[in-house]
Amino acid sequence: MPEGDAIHSAARRVGAALIGTKIVDIETPQPRHALDRWPERLEGRAVRAVDAHGKHLFIRFDGGLTLHSHLRMRGAWGVYERGRRWRRSPRRAWLVIRTAEHEVVQFDGPVLELMTDARARSDRRLAALGPDLLADDFDESRFLTRLREDDQTRGIGDALLDQRNLAGIGNAWKSEGCFLAGINPWRRLSEVSDEEALAIVRELRPRMLASAERGGRIVGTSVFERTGLPCPRCGARVRARGQGDDNRTTYWCARCQA
Ligand SMILES: [Zn+2]
Repeated sequence: MPEGDAIHSAARRVGAALIGTKIVDIETPQPRHALDRWPERLEGRAVRAVDAHGKHLFIRFDGGLTLHSHLRMRGAWGVYERGRRWRRSPRRAWLVIRTAEHEVVQFDGPVLELMTDARARSDRRLAALGPDLLADDFDESRFLTRLREDDQTRGIGDALLDQRNLAGIGNAWKSEGCFLAGINPWRRLSEVSDEEALAIVRELRPRMLASAERGGRIVGTSVFERTGLPCPRCGARVRARGQGDDNRTTYWCARCQA
């Protein structure tokens, strides 16, 4: 599942291909979007910005229109030079934006909507998002405020996935962050101090920023998807179990994460 680092990386690549370049063609191949008339509504408009907030990506067009995308579990953004073969089948494309040099494609995108800037600002789901861990001005105190407003019986691993507390962390970075900070992901929020919660995000932020520079793929994990393998710190076997209402698998070392 693409996490915040992958989406920030995609926003950079999409922006590099589209900003300051004439858009020659926009296609929405899926029947679901046939009546939306996006090609007509976006015709002749330039892209003025592409940015990310957590796992959400926004393509902002001149004239106050914004395309909002969320990839959920299986979606992907591709940026290709014209004529290059796409990484996924064209049948899985939901959006294609063409310039003279590039094709920007969203594949398998469950969330793809065109909204006015006014609506983007007032959208309740977007307004509810917590601070973006990868934002230049990431606000630690806002993160702590959101975390303390959450149900304090919730496990810290589960709470880190809730995008209303903090935007950008997915299942892989959740487990890695708790490991790096030496905190048991099953500890209730009431038993996690502010300093401990901040330790997790301070471990993650530089790593996720570096990952975004590399294309947004997590490499060399310590516990994520390493069930039964030795913990790199103490050698105990890494454990895995579903956590939270969505039963997302959490990986941890029971010996060195107290
Ligand atoms: Zn260990």
